[in-house]
Amino acid sequence: MSQFQPARRITGLVQSDIRAMTKECIRLGGINLGQGLCELPTPTPVIEAAQAALAEETKSIYSSPEGILPLRQAIARKLEKENGIKANPETEIIVVNGSTGGYAATLMALLNPGDGILLFEPFYGYHLNAAILAELQPQFIPFPGTDLALDEAAIRQTITAKSRAIVICTPNNPSGKMWSESELKTIAKIAKEHNLLVITDEMYEYFRFEGRPHVSPASLPELADRTVTLMGLSKTFSITGWRLGYVHAPAALAEKIRLANDLFYVCAPTPLQYGVLEGFGKVPPSYFTDLQTEFKDKRDQICEVLENVGLRPIVPQGAYYVLADTTRFGIASSKDFAMKLLEKTKVASVPGRAFFNSNVGEKFVRFCFAVTDDRLTKACQQLGQLKGGF
Ligand code: GLN
Repeated sequence: MSQFQPARRITGLVQSDIRAMTKECIRLGGINLGQGLCELPTPTPVIEAAQAALAEETKSIYSSPEGILPLRQAIARKLEKENGIKANPETEIIVVNGSTGGYAATLMALLNPGDGILLFEPFYGYHLNAAILAELQPQFIPFPGTDLALDEAAIRQTITAKSRAIVICTPNNPSGKMWSESELKTIAKIAKEHNLLVITDEMYEYFRFEGRPHVSPASLPELADRTVTLMGLSKTFSITGWRLGYVHAPAALAEKIRLANDLFYVCAPTPLQYGVLEGFGKVPPSYFTDLQTEFKDKRDQICEVLENVGLRPIVPQGAYYVLADTTRFGIASSKDFAMKLLEKTKVASVPGRAFFNSNVGEKFVRFCFAVTDDRLTKACQQLGQLKGGF
């Protein structure tokens, strides 16, 4: 045992339930509907361009800290066309090591230790724990109930003089909520009144159902000058292990995020940047529209089974997760429930406690449906055996 004590900022933190359940799932030989692994084929042009770049010396060296210019230009075109965000590729876009890397760089660059960061329950656990590691003070806006409605009064009650940032994740991991323009206008009003930074994670922008539009907060003129937008490429091109994403922010903020990104990561992996550059150019728009149909089918398939076995789902509007209410099974701890479910049905989920600060999380588990049709069908059959309880 080392006598050396780790830093205070990490002392209370433990491995995430997302990763812990993957470990348990492997140990018990289950089907992993826990961690969002996104088991879809990567588009061939993306792979081929990355492979070619690996063999080229000039494409395998460091890129500039903000990423290769042609990729930033492609991202700027995409942001304008699909998100309604007009971005200067020279000064406002940074290619980062996954949205998670972009989030870390943003926190370090723009917020001070002790600053309050507002998180909506349910939140993505990494948004909380990375904030704790950055020595911020998390401030939780309570779960509004299964309709996930925006409660302006609840936000106002949570804000204190310390509050400096608010995190939005749309479409949301884990609830699937998609923020509407009018909800974002409410956020804009509050953010202006309290001079809050808005950090928005839009990792799942292409996964949305029933033709719902994705609204990027930074596309609202009243939010543009105070919003940092985190976008991922993991899910867009099914390359979760490549660790690539990008950040958009007003130039003065982007400059600082770029510096933090340089100090922590130097740059995102250069050859892989060439791979996704090809993706932006070659992957047809139908790839993204097909995703929506395919994932709606997957969503419907799992929600039907969950409903049938008494695990009432909060039917997601977007993203590829579903929160299911386990109350009927009478197990007080979401971790116990998830473990029992894994043992009995060989299907892994993530305990709801990973996404909530309050006890409400204990009655939920999260399932990820971004798996192949075969695996999803098998998992649904195994979950179907649950009818009537454990
Ligand atoms: N974002 C994915 C999830 O929520 C994976 C996160 C991770 O593995 N850390 O499951």
